[in-house]
Amino acid sequence: MNTKEKDSQYIMHTYGRYNVALKSGKGCRAFDEDGREYLDVSSGIGVNSLGYCDEGWVEAVTKQAATIQHMSNYFYCPQASDLAEKLCTLTPFSRVCFSNSGAEANECAIKVARKYSFDKYGKGRDEIVTLRDSFHGRTVTTLSATGQDVFHNYFFPFTEGFKYSNPDIDSVKAAVSDKTCAVLIECVQGEGGVNILDKDFVKQLRAFCDERDILLIADEVQTGIGRTGKLFCFENFDITPDLVTSAKGLGGGLPIGACLCTEKLKDVMQPSTHGSTFAANPVVCAGANYVLGVVCDEEFLSEVNKKGEYLKKKLLSLEGVRSVRNLGLMVGIELEDRDAHDIALKCVENGLLIITAKSLLRMLPPLNISYSELDEAVEILEKTLKEN
Ligand SMILES: *Cc1c(COP(=O)(O)O)cnc(C)c1O
Repeated sequence: MNTKEKDSQYIMHTYGRYNVALKSGKGCRAFDEDGREYLDVSSGIGVNSLGYCDEGWVEAVTKQAATIQHMSNYFYCPQASDLAEKLCTLTPFSRVCFSNSGAEANECAIKVARKYSFDKYGKGRDEIVTLRDSFHGRTVTTLSATGQDVFHNYFFPFTEGFKYSNPDIDSVKAAVSDKTCAVLIECVQGEGGVNILDKDFVKQLRAFCDERDILLIADEVQTGIGRTGKLFCFENFDITPDLVTSAKGLGGGLPIGACLCTEKLKDVMQPSTHGSTFAANPVVCAGANYVLGVVCDEEFLSEVNKKGEYLKKKLLSLEGVRSVRNLGLMVGIELEDRDAHDIALKCVENGLLIITAKSLLRMLPPLNISYSELDEAVEILEKTLKEN
């Protein structure tokens, strides 16, 4: 059996995959089992923030794997402490709780928010308002948090306590009650279609939450770690959330999640309130420390913005492109009279690995992609649009 046949035989059919089995990669290039080369502007859904097998990242990870590969949370871990220190000194946050994925980071934020409210106000003030078209993960609770009805099926009963709102302040006010402990947002909704929240709305929301002692949680699993030209996307909106979650791009290709909280929340979690066997693994943290070392540089981040603008301008000049929305290198492309999924499949056939978000094409290229690689990506898309 080949890779595809084995996958079909032995792996549960939870994914619709492209007809490509990737074998190796370098920078923005991936190679399949037959040696065919692809230009990748998806970076494993924003995970490979420095592209495939970045030299410094590989060195950091392999060196750590050969030194000590895992320890339980009974012991202190130098790489985790270093990573937490970096995250807290580079941001307005005071403490971190590590996990292994975006959904888990959100689970942690939900637990912190509910416990903060429980400790201060007692039982019953536990509702969390989330936004329509959001995506917060695949666990039963984060599916509940996800504001899309299509995700609320099969797996009943879902976790209670989530209310959904449109992304405007009146709708949030209508969804909030004296039982609300938090509002959870993505400043740019990724899976929901690269929807950039209105800046005034986000600022009004921050002020409203402050008035009511409602915690504002930013899910930055996709938008964080330089993706939008800032370390965290909320910086583009001139607010500071009480909790922020990170995952995808943080590890540079290894599984990690992080939930960061402000000073006011730093002692909410106490021994035995949360934990995870694999969280803050030293190999993973070594990779994340390397990623932050590269990304947290003003020049690097300003290049992410410039590349985003450059790409947007080029995309807008293509026939068949109706509109482009982006913040940095998080890019959604609305097409004219074409099915985005169909075009994505054709792009892959033409050597460009690109993904979709709802009815849009989506690009999340490695943050260190070059201008000439961006040119090449646009050329392949142009050719594909002409052919279809
Ligand atoms: C991908 C994603 C998640 C889920 O992350 P996993 O690592 O797949 O659990 C949650 N929130 C947002 C905004 C995401 O983009």
